Amino acid sequence: MKTFLLLGANLGNRIQTLQRAVGLIAERVGSVTQQSSWYETAPWGVTDQPAYVNQVIAVETDLKPDALLEQTQAIEQQLGRVRFEKWGARLIDIDILYYDQEIVLTKSLTIPHPYLHQRRFTLVPLAEIAPNFEHPVLQKTSRELLAVCEDESEVVIFNF
Ligand code: ATP
Ligand code: CA
Ligand code: CA
Repeated sequence: MKTFLLLGANLGNRIQTLQRAVGLIAERVGSVTQQSSWYETAPWGVTDQPAYVNQVIAVETDLKPDALLEQTQAIEQQLGRVRFEKWGARLIDIDILYYDQEIVLTKSLTIPHPYLHQRRFTLVPLAEIAPNFEHPVLQKTSRELLAVCEDESEVVIFNF
């Protein structure tokens, strides 16, 4: 199954954290077939916190959605995620955007990710690596979702 994951970091050495996350995902989730550029993005929801660096990756995995979430959460823990408030700062966040064309709605999991289409920091990197992937519920491609997204927050290629 092909899954798309959104990685986000806004504390510490953000790039190093993202690279470590990609390494652990390759070990425990499956082969990482695509990686977007790094994007520096304004915080969303709780805006009084440092800027994020976000990246979207595509992973070929044999894990079922529940097991995938378990692994991504274990990786977040291993990388030292501590968080104090909803949408607040944390070292690493790993969200499951898509799991093939499947729709998953359980207590612990909503796929496609419920805010995917409302967030430029998700759509810009997603459209970079998968412009023509179609959202199974909204039936629009990443490129089309980005074109109609009303979020105006800043998303720029990360420069060292
Ligand atoms: P947001 O989901 O709005 O980006 P967040 O990433 O800060 O917010 P978390 O605290 O990381 O939210 O996750 C809260 C819970 O969301 C997790 O415990 C998980 O069970 C659930 N969840 C539901 N759908 C997903 C998904 N597609 N990917 C990751 N977590 C999900
Ligand atoms: Ca998130
Ligand atoms: Ca999350």
